Amino acid sequence: MDKKEQMEKLMQEMLACRKCALRNGCKQVVPGAGSAEAEIMFIGEAPGKNEDEQGIPFVGAAGKFLDEMLLAINLKREDIYIANTVKCRPPQNRDPLPEEKDTCWNWLEKQIEIIKPKIIVTLGRHSMNLFLPEQRISEVHGRALRRDVPKMGKQIFFTLYHPAAALYNGGMREVLMKDFKKIPKVLELIKKEQNEK
Ligand code: URA
Repeated sequence: MDKKEQMEKLMQEMLACRKCALRNGCKQVVPGAGSAEAEIMFIGEAPGKNEDEQGIPFVGAAGKFLDEMLLAINLKREDIYIANTVKCRPPQNRDPLPEEKDTCWNWLEKQIEIIKPKIIVTLGRHSMNLFLPEQRISEVHGRALRRDVPKMGKQIFFTLYHPAAALYNGGMREVLMKDFKKIPKVLELIKKEQNEK
């Protein structure tokens, strides 16, 4: 099976998931969207109201800002893959609980295994802390960090503030856009390094 077929199969499994109580309180599962062949994978926190209604990640106000930033680096949704740390909307948009993130981790891990992205861009601290629990986002945003992840091997992470946090904060919005614009350069360096090996 190619990556697209593997992802489609996984999507069906995710849509049928009932492993935690979040599924009882939401309208639908929001598994992820984009290209299974993407070089860049974005990981947000959890679906919100709009995502829960449409079944697609980042379709609300934060998603519009994400699209704006993607456009600034000449990328479209079809060029990337977007997923969240949990696939179902937590009640009243509360933070996902550690046990919910643990239960849902298996899906995210499988998505990453299929895509094998050259770079994982974490959006916000929940996403970053899944992979880099020791880091503080205020210190490492806009930086690429390499980590050895079980099953995935060496993986490069690029940490960003969450678009929703930056939406109504002019200063943070500027910082996020500036960090975001570093992505093409970081990707280019990763590819150069891989070609030299
Ligand atoms: N915020 C997230 O973290 N994920 C979404 O899908 C939407 C908003």
